[in-house]
Amino acid sequence: LRSPCRVFHEHPRLLASDLYSQYESVRRGEQEMPKYFNFASDVLDKWSEIEKAGKRPSNPAFWWINGKGGEVKWSFEELGFLSRKVANVLTKVCGLQKGDRIVVILPRIPEWWLVNVACMRAGIVLIPGISQLTAKDILYRLQASKATCIITNDTLAPAVDSVASECQFLKTKLIVSKGSREGCDPGHDEESRVLLHNIQDPACIFFTSGTTGSPKMAEHSQSSLGFRPLLSERYWLDLTPSDVIWNTADTGWILTSLASLFDPWVFGSCIFIHHLPQIESAAILNTLSRHPVGTLVGAPTLFRMLVQNDLSSYKFMNLKHCVSGGEPVNPEVMEQWKSKTGLDIHEIYGQTETGIICSVFKGMKIKPGSMGKAAPFYDVQIIDKNANILPPGQEGEIAIRNKPIRPLGFFSKYIDNPKKTAASERGDFFVTGDRGTMDEDGYFWFIGRDDDIIISSGYRIGPFEVESALTEHPAVAETAVVSSPDPLRGEVVKAFVVLSSTFSCGDLESLALELQEHVKKTTAPYKYPRKMEFVQQLPKTATGKIKRNELRNKEWGRM
Ligand code: ATP
Ligand code: MG
Repeated sequence: LRSPCRVFHEHPRLLASDLYSQYESVRRGEQEMPKYFNFASDVLDKWSEIEKAGKRPSNPAFWWINGKGGEVKWSFEELGFLSRKVANVLTKVCGLQKGDRIVVILPRIPEWWLVNVACMRAGIVLIPGISQLTAKDILYRLQASKATCIITNDTLAPAVDSVASECQFLKTKLIVSKGSREGCDPGHDEESRVLLHNIQDPACIFFTSGTTGSPKMAEHSQSSLGFRPLLSERYWLDLTPSDVIWNTADTGWILTSLASLFDPWVFGSCIFIHHLPQIESAAILNTLSRHPVGTLVGAPTLFRMLVQNDLSSYKFMNLKHCVSGGEPVNPEVMEQWKSKTGLDIHEIYGQTETGIICSVFKGMKIKPGSMGKAAPFYDVQIIDKNANILPPGQEGEIAIRNKPIRPLGFFSKYIDNPKKTAASERGDFFVTGDRGTMDEDGYFWFIGRDDDIIISSGYRIGPFEVESALTEHPAVAETAVVSSPDPLRGEVVKAFVVLSSTFSCGDLESLALELQEHVKKTTAPYKYPRKMEFVQQLPKTATGKIKRNELRNKEWGRM
């Protein structure tokens, strides 16, 4: 596997550092990728040495608060020490071996990070799960993944117990809990043997969000997660060892592995976490005012929620860079955030399968509504049904070239699903299932998931543009736009609208008319929603994404 990254600008500060110099020739494409790699020993333990030599700023590697006075701060050295202990528990007490699979369903507590690093040390394949999972979801994940071990907390333990007997592969259940249990000896702290992992060995399995159906299991390798950021430079996060980054996503989402683990730690940065059981505006705004968080990463719902607040009463201590993605970021929200805080929201676009595909890099011209340019390693194109590349401005499917070189950062496969794996390929490309365009400057514009496109009287309408137009209206907090049957037009645009809490309106009928007029004025008139429904909330996945397919199925009577 040859690194396709000769084109990148070198960053002198990075290349000069001890950690990066050894990867410089790989980065330049002069040397093959190494055969073996272990993120824990090759990156984290190196930072520990750099830290010991006094060459890293004094901020912690990991900084956790719970908002109730609880605080944890670890240096890289402490992270190393504690994660070795956990690795010993997993391997010696639980008998887990390299390649074994472990489901980890923990909220944002420090142990989640320890277990991750411990698994990297030992080569155990980690499958993160979201804390809101129900017993049925857990059963599906345990059966589908054939995991032999599960780690969870007191809250979820009863759910795990209720389904454990149906999971024939499950041998060990571990609880992260305050109390100690008899027969459980976490006292091993001897140096564990450094295991060399083949760079293609599996590191993690992520379940996709399940926005369009049952979640799929995407396997990622040691290289796609841990090695990629070593080479890919500072494109989407742009961090240094003195930076503090806070990502509010749930631990079960690949975004957390990227934004709260691999990518910041490659740069020796401090990972900050506020353990919030629920995403709460006031708590988040207070934390940003009292802690030196420089980079904030969150789903668009986070920013949609934050701009609903009076931000003039908060003064952020150090916030400089905001990143959002996972679903479209409405330009209106970006504008409001900018006018209230002076900060831009940098959009990222990605998938569980691929990591970050496009992003708005720091310092790059922002075109609101665009997801930015292709990320390093990715040759992103808009293609047609026959895998022909379409010219700028033309709508098609967003795809990434994966032949002859599979990009670093890509998943290896869908587990136990060769059909799905094969269906995601077309010609020399991996197809995302999303539609979009690229402009003359190489910026990508999201139109919608293939299934979400509405075809009304022969016009193709992407829901996102209509949603963005609606969100511009002060009455609208959130909205989802789907197709709805119509005898004349085949299908028409229907908007489900959640009203803003600060907006009071008695007459919903005239508000609906006003919103329709507003859309006609803001975007091409044929896109306006002919049907409207006001709702209290929208159906969402556990990762906070709007489930348009659920709304659409209801419209079409396909429940
Ligand atoms: P499933 O594949 O199980 O149906 P999912 O596709 O939502 O669920 P993820 O891998 O979490 O699972 O999400 C990737 C998808 O999220 C992308 O394919 C795209 O549709 C959407 N997405 C991510 N970032 C953006 C963005 N910036 N703008 C628009 N859509 C985005
Ligand atoms: Mg998907």
